Parts: sequence; C-alpha cells; structure tokens
Amino acid sequence: MKHCDEHWARMRKAVDDRGMSHLVAGSGQEAVERVQREIEAHAEGDKPSPTDFDPLMAMNWNFCGRAMQTAGIVVMQEKDAYAYEVEAQYGIPRNDGHYCPLCLAKMGFLKHLRGDGGKCGEPGCEVVVKQDDRPWDEAWIEGCADAMHKHAVDIGLVRTN
Ligand SMILES: [Zn+2]
Ligand SMILES: [Zn+2]
Repeated sequence: MKHCDEHWARMRKAVDDRGMSHLVAGSGQEAVERVQREIEAHAEGDKPSPTDFDPLMAMNWNFCGRAMQTAGIVVMQEKDAYAYEVEAQYGIPRNDGHYCPLCLAKMGFLKHLRGDGGKCGEPGCEVVVKQDDRPWDEAWIEGCADAMHKHAVDIGLVRTN
C-alpha cells in the first residue's frame, strides 16, 4: 500500500496550507527513525517527543489504517488483473501495482455516486452519497490535516494567530 503521486501531492499541500511543512521529516530515513522512536515511547508507556511528530507521516498511517479497516488485508498485496480492471472504470492510476488508500476512498465514493439512489448496492451497506457531497478522498485529507493541525497547536509546535 502506497499513496499515488497525485494524492501524496495533495496531502503535502494540505500540510503546507496549514503552515506545518517545517514539521515534515527531511528524508525517508529520518521519517523512519521518528516512527521508531514513537513506537519505543509507546512501548515504554512514555509520551512520544513532540519533535518526532510528522503530520505527513501521521496522515499516511491514518489513511493506510482506514483503508485496511474498510477493504481488508488484500490492500497490502499487489494489485491483480481484476483490480486493475475495476479501478480503470473509476480512473484510478496503476501506481506501480500498489493500492493507494485515498484512491480506494475515491473509488468507494464514486461507486455510491454512480449507483441507484447514491447507494453502492452491496448487501448491508447503508451509506448514501448525494451529488454535492465532498469526495471521500478530499474529505479524508482535509479532515485529517485539520486534526493534525489541532494536535500540532496543542503540543506547541504551531502557533495560531
Ligand atoms: Zn491515490
Ligand atoms: Zn455502499
């Protein structure tokens, strides 16, 4: 599972728009080290250090977690021919064979939008989408970026005025 280029760029922009780009790890290596320190802190019952907070990574894990909850473990695997075929109907990029959590959200939204009465037609699904609803990928990015911003303010990393 990996975010596609378009969604990654939109996540970055949402972080930039909220004045948090200075909190993003400068390299992949640094991002990994921060996560390791956060996991260690949790394991020892400590609070993670505020300086290890990375809003972009936090959004990344949040969306991966949500996609797993909704779609299941299959999204950890490489896409197969059938997945490509289904996704092509919704204009989802191939993304080197990786599922993109936000593309999955977008596809879920479009399935409902294009279905009868805003429903996907799957048994047991009560979700109804209206024509002017905000696409789920957009809603995830904006909602999560707002939550990250609030957190960054709470732990004193970003000032508001
Ligand atoms: Zn995507
Ligand atoms: Zn549904």
